[in-house]
Amino acid sequence: MIGLQPEGDVDWSMYRGIMVVVEQRSGVAKPVSWQLLGEARRLADKLDAPLMALVMGQDVSHIAQQAIGYGADIVYHADAPELKDYRTRPYSRVCLKVIKTYRPEIVLMGATYTGRDLAGAIATHLPTGLTADSTQLDVDDERLLLASRPAFSEKMLATILCKQFKPQMATVRAGVFQALPYDEKRTGKIIAVHQDMHENDIVTKVLEFVQDDNRVNLEDAQVIVAGGRGLGGPDGFKLLHELANVLGGTVAASRAATDLGWIDHAYQVGQTGTTVRPKLYFAIGISGAVQHVVGMQNSDYIVAINKDPNAPIFQIANYGIVGDLFEIVPLLTKAFQERLT
Ligand code: FAD
Repeated sequence: MIGLQPEGDVDWSMYRGIMVVVEQRSGVAKPVSWQLLGEARRLADKLDAPLMALVMGQDVSHIAQQAIGYGADIVYHADAPELKDYRTRPYSRVCLKVIKTYRPEIVLMGATYTGRDLAGAIATHLPTGLTADSTQLDVDDERLLLASRPAFSEKMLATILCKQFKPQMATVRAGVFQALPYDEKRTGKIIAVHQDMHENDIVTKVLEFVQDDNRVNLEDAQVIVAGGRGLGGPDGFKLLHELANVLGGTVAASRAATDLGWIDHAYQVGQTGTTVRPKLYFAIGISGAVQHVVGMQNSDYIVAINKDPNAPIFQIANYGIVGDLFEIVPLLTKAFQERLT
């Protein structure tokens, strides 16, 4: 935070531990929250400090319990009708109260729409520094958070530190880290947080949620069928949709395909697109440029289909098929159809 100085002599040593703000919608936690707890567990152990989670909502005690199973030592749990749906004011007020009371040295949230909104509101109020959209995290010997993110039109990876303020804050992209295996036997402390706002004090009202059926949700997809320039045009994506439908998966694309206007940018996987972590990822007619690979290399299984046996994608693929995608994809779709239906 260039130019801003803490007022007076602040004793930052009182701040200890890492806090992950768990995001939920309708009583279901976002996978990014558990992925963050997995990475934060590693950092907390390195700092020899407690790992805390903050769970807010209505009737979300099961999520507080889940946070323990995913690695938290202590969970702060704010449960109130005013917290049923996300709104900046009540959520940021609870966050600020918990942060000021329990003083974590690091606060992490998912770089989702909600996480970005909430993190910005809190960082401005505290005030402290916030690194948005991080893709790597670490801590150094001085307990400083090293939050790295693509910078300068995504050509470089910048590591950003917040030396003068606590807590150090970062939002982190979904799909970058891996959640720990859920351990239902894990024990921890759950501490209730009283929410002292009343509905009349909150100016924003949630009237209704309208489901956007066209919204692309690559982050949570278990099966992704991605296509690139090798598809030769927008019609190539019809083949991919057929395969994805049989597998209950989602179609995605390389930047070459989105830049050519064959499919919307929302479907792009990679450094300037979405980072994904599905169980199964098909890379079809995609060469395997590093900017694409960083967005999908953490998939459990990668199947590459490419007519060039030397395409770099084969170096990271678990299964590689060398050949013409226009022959292979329909055969695969037919074979899966016969087996799965
Ligand atoms: P190509 O590299 O052209 O590969 C096409 C492949 O299709 C080839 O391997 C070819 O052998 C194969 N093929 C052709 N015809 C057939 C056929 N009939 N059957 C089978 N195989 C066939 N890229 C991303 O994807 N995501 C990003 O987020 C991203 N961010 C970027 C950020 C920056 C700053 C920069 C500079 C680049 C970025 N890129 C990104 C672009 C990236 O460098 C590549 O240009 C892009 O990924 C290439 O896409 P592609 O693999 O579809 O196309």
